[in-house]
Amino acid sequence: MVIISASFLMIEANIAQLQQELPPSVTLVAVTKYAPIAAMSTAYRCGIRHFGESKVQATQEKRPQLQELPDVTWHLIGHLQRNKTRQALELFDWIHSIDRLSLAQELNRLIPLVGKSPKLCLQVKLAPDPDKFGWEPQQLQQELPELLKLNHLQIVGLMTILPQGTKGEDALAIFKRMLPLKADLEQKGLHLPHLSMGMSGDYREAIAAGATIVRIGSKIFT
Ligand SMILES: *Cc1c(COP(=O)(O)O)cnc(C)c1O
Repeated sequence: MVIISASFLMIEANIAQLQQELPPSVTLVAVTKYAPIAAMSTAYRCGIRHFGESKVQATQEKRPQLQELPDVTWHLIGHLQRNKTRQALELFDWIHSIDRLSLAQELNRLIPLVGKSPKLCLQVKLAPDPDKFGWEPQQLQQELPELLKLNHLQIVGLMTILPQGTKGEDALAIFKRMLPLKADLEQKGLHLPHLSMGMSGDYREAIAAGATIVRIGSKIFT
């Protein structure tokens, strides 16, 4: 019991610190992929209203257990397989991980059928990274005409994850590559008010480079 309440106190302290530190214009998505239900309830009591999950199935299991928390916004931040697209539409208010044209096309087909249209971010790789999903900027530019045809999609931003271990000035320099890309895509017809970037190890650099949404897990829950 003592251990459990101590960890609740840590969650509270971690959230309070972040709330103090983050500018009011930045939305904090608490990444709960490793957090049990009780920890999520604690986060909610501390003011968190945005939960980020990386898997459809885990969210299907968690959401019914958190029904008493009415005003939560659910964010999918992990790679979405084609066969989970319909469930993702039903579960999530935001999908940050639109990482390929075929997924965008499948969502565009399903949105009118399911009757839900979450806000979407296009996931881009600002530095080459074989371990990550997402568009290389050049590839995104090439496929943009196809994306612009998908008129059921509510594309509202860009998302990125840095290569593992990128820190400090290197992180800042890579995050800053988002700005010319965003400007260019907006000139070609997208409207991208949101930049979803920054995790526990690099959110300060992400905010310095213009992030509007940070996705933070371990700094809150461990
Ligand atoms: C897990 C995860 C996060 C949170 O990472 P932390 O380092 O625990 O803050 C953010 N974004 C994505 C896409 C993730 O998968």
